[in-house]
Amino acid sequence: MEKAKYIWMDGNFVPWDEAKVHVLTHTLHYGNGVFEGTRAYQTDDGLAIFRLQDHTKRLLNSAKIVKIDVPFSQEELEEAQIELLRKNDFKGNVYIRPLIYLGYGKMGLYHIGAPVHVAIAAWEWGAYLGEEGLENGIRVKISSIVRNPVKSTFGKAKAVANYLNSQMAKYEAIEAGYEEALMLDDEGFVAEGSGECFFIVRDGVLITPPNDNSLESITQATILEIAREMDIPIERRRITRDEVYIADEAFFTGTAAEVTPVREVDGRVIGNGKRGPITKELQEAYFDVVYGRDKNYKHYLTYI
Ligand code: PMP
Repeated sequence: MEKAKYIWMDGNFVPWDEAKVHVLTHTLHYGNGVFEGTRAYQTDDGLAIFRLQDHTKRLLNSAKIVKIDVPFSQEELEEAQIELLRKNDFKGNVYIRPLIYLGYGKMGLYHIGAPVHVAIAAWEWGAYLGEEGLENGIRVKISSIVRNPVKSTFGKAKAVANYLNSQMAKYEAIEAGYEEALMLDDEGFVAEGSGECFFIVRDGVLITPPNDNSLESITQATILEIAREMDIPIERRRITRDEVYIADEAFFTGTAAEVTPVREVDGRVIGNGKRGPITKELQEAYFDVVYGRDKNYKHYLTYI
């Protein structure tokens, strides 16, 4: 990965190579921590963070769900991210990774009383599922791994522990020769990708499941907002596996994945096997928004 100069740790800017933790860090053992993934783009007016406030709010909500008391306010965490990008003097597009974790000093599963730490790293990161994928689409496998069921996990939290489920699905898909996994929920309906939300298009209608079994995705919300503005009909409803196979178009959305078309699922070609026309329209509109080229969405950008 690309190193940067500094990582923000509990209020201090620490040189990248010195940003370390003790091996008895609580989160390393028991998996209770929460994080965010936020992007900043090089716009014509300089580097700008996309939906900083929404991501930071979700970070604090995630901590609330898993009973971690964060010793910083939303404003302080936003300011820290802005200052971190300033100090690192990035030349390209940036991915920001805030992490709230339980540190060294207490062991055992009763986590209350373990020290709470916040770290924010940022580095230059290109297309998560590849430039080629953004243009021509990726091949996807429906996972044998069921998405974390809501009866036993907290899907509204971007919690470290949720990502074992994602990692196993991603591993299975890559090892089987695909590029991403699509996970179903415990009733067999489409939940989400390992780190993305999922959309299909059928007969001109844009369809994406409700967030019952997926993260409340900021990119998904942005795409729905853009689609509404473009007068594309929208349905939020459950999707079955066989409906995915016969979709005209399909794509993933996420901060890292942006808008990545899906060209094949389990050996079934989706539409014409390329980025579909509505996907292309939404993808282009999304990039106009994050790069500050669409004046209607300027309020989502925080310039550095
Ligand atoms: N689902 C999961 C499991 C994710 O990790 C992500 C990435 N944060 C998403 C969906 C997409 O969320 P967002 O658009 O807010 O990045």
